[in-house]
Amino acid sequence: MKQRHAPVRSCTVCRQTSDKRELLRVVRLPEKEGGQVVVDPTGKRSGRGAYVCPEVQCIEKARKSRRFERALAGDANAANPQLYDELMSLAQARSTNPITSIRSDPPMK
Ligand SMILES: [Zn+2]
Repeated sequence: MKQRHAPVRSCTVCRQTSDKRELLRVVRLPEKEGGQVVVDPTGKRSGRGAYVCPEVQCIEKARKSRRFERALAGDANAANPQLYDELMSLAQARSTNPITSIRSDPPMK
């Protein structure tokens, strides 16, 4: 009784599962390309990948804990300073409902 045939992935941050196409993909480039962790807007790059919801909250959490660098490179120093900014703009571009991207202003603690 499958409702959809699209592959499902889970968000690295909140673990919620979604249609692969609805999540943002981050991939680690091969060493010869620098080994950096980058956004993969097409979802087609080869390499070790991880996914995150196109949600400000998840992206911010990932940014603070350097989640992708650790998950993919095992090394927070593989950071791409622009990674999370790119994820954020992709998430906002993808949002069909702009309110989603500004709905919460998590208290800074
Ligand atoms: Zn999430």
